[in-house]
Amino acid sequence: MTAAFPAVMPTYARAEIGFERGEGPYLWGTDGRRYLDFACGIAVTGLGHAHPHLVAEVSAQMNKVWHTSNIFPIAQQQKLAERLVAATFADTVFFANSGAEANECAIKVVRKYHAHRGQPERYRILTFEGAFHGRTLATLAAGGQKKYLEGFGPPVDGFDQVPFGDHEAIEKAIGPQTAGILIEPVQGEGGVRPVPPQCLKGLRALCDKHGLLLFFDEIQTGMGRTGKLFAYEWSGVTPDVMSVAKALGNGFPVGACLATAEAAAGMVAGTHGSTYGGNPLAMAAGNAVLDVMLAPGFFEKVEALASHVKQQLHGLVQRNPDMFEDSRGMGLLLGLKCKVPNQDMVKALRGQGLLTAGAGDNVVRILAPLVAEPKHVAEAVDAVEKACAALRAENAARKAG
Ligand SMILES: *Cc1c(COP(=O)(O)O)cnc(C)c1O
Repeated sequence: MTAAFPAVMPTYARAEIGFERGEGPYLWGTDGRRYLDFACGIAVTGLGHAHPHLVAEVSAQMNKVWHTSNIFPIAQQQKLAERLVAATFADTVFFANSGAEANECAIKVVRKYHAHRGQPERYRILTFEGAFHGRTLATLAAGGQKKYLEGFGPPVDGFDQVPFGDHEAIEKAIGPQTAGILIEPVQGEGGVRPVPPQCLKGLRALCDKHGLLLFFDEIQTGMGRTGKLFAYEWSGVTPDVMSVAKALGNGFPVGACLATAEAAAGMVAGTHGSTYGGNPLAMAAGNAVLDVMLAPGFFEKVEALASHVKQQLHGLVQRNPDMFEDSRGMGLLLGLKCKVPNQDMVKALRGQGLLTAGAGDNVVRILAPLVAEPKHVAEAVDAVEKACAALRAENAARKAG
């Protein structure tokens, strides 16, 4: 044991401040300052911090029973599954503890679908450049990013990557072993890159033509982030399999794999499992989140907020052309493509009391809570203007030597 090695394995480049408590869109830092949280723990705390209904529901469950394992029926799991089924294309749900695990289940569903139909050789899944699907070995292989795969041995076999937005390349890549197509309706980590609805329609048509399953990773886009419960609702097409996590528990770790009955036909007893997956506490969180999101009028408000934030970002780009190239995204999954290094911008914004998250393609993600109000947006816009001014002053000072 080397004494100098950090007690927490140093796999993260962490910011210099942490947080002690939160309320709605705000977090209070270990530095005593109040921060406006437009990072939402990376698209997780969509309903803000310490939401009274979520606190009440999870606390109530906490006082009853935390965990029993999936040896036994779990009523709260049945309830959440039925609600997700009623609200989506899906007929059935498997609960996991994270996004990567939800994707692992979905990958197994896609493979099992073909094996169950007597074609076990069809196990390969097409994925897209710039994608992010998680950090387990299979989901890393699905994402295909060299920097994440390096040093961890041979990547899990069964994923073929095609360029983002190249319809012809996709059809060419389909072979006798292809089982499905996996895509994020908006690439989140990859730089807030929406997939146009006609492309999703094209993928649906390709899947139907070749007998493939269409698998949407809605871990980041789902649970209201784009202004509807799930992003696929904007496109007019439905997937066969879908992964959900992040905002599903508003910070309580939970993931889910949704599928049609046909896609999941082979997923019978013994084919998949999880010790924690879908335990009463996680299900209390998920059900409480749905209580809020499925209330009448919730998404109308989110959509109105989203178009307001989008307009504000557009204005910021126009007023600060030396700092930003464009604004992009869907709903409240928005990004500013920077002309300065995005991590410098994230840091400068934090200096002005605004939390955001970096993404690929030199983008800063602006992930307002779904429950934010115009006054919070105004506060964020002010912080962005001040951060731009601070970065300009820093650059000028550096040039002056
Ligand atoms: C965050 C994310 C994941 C991974 O989720 P974890 O909970 O970190 O395992 C997978 N896919 C997408 C699109 C994500 O945004």
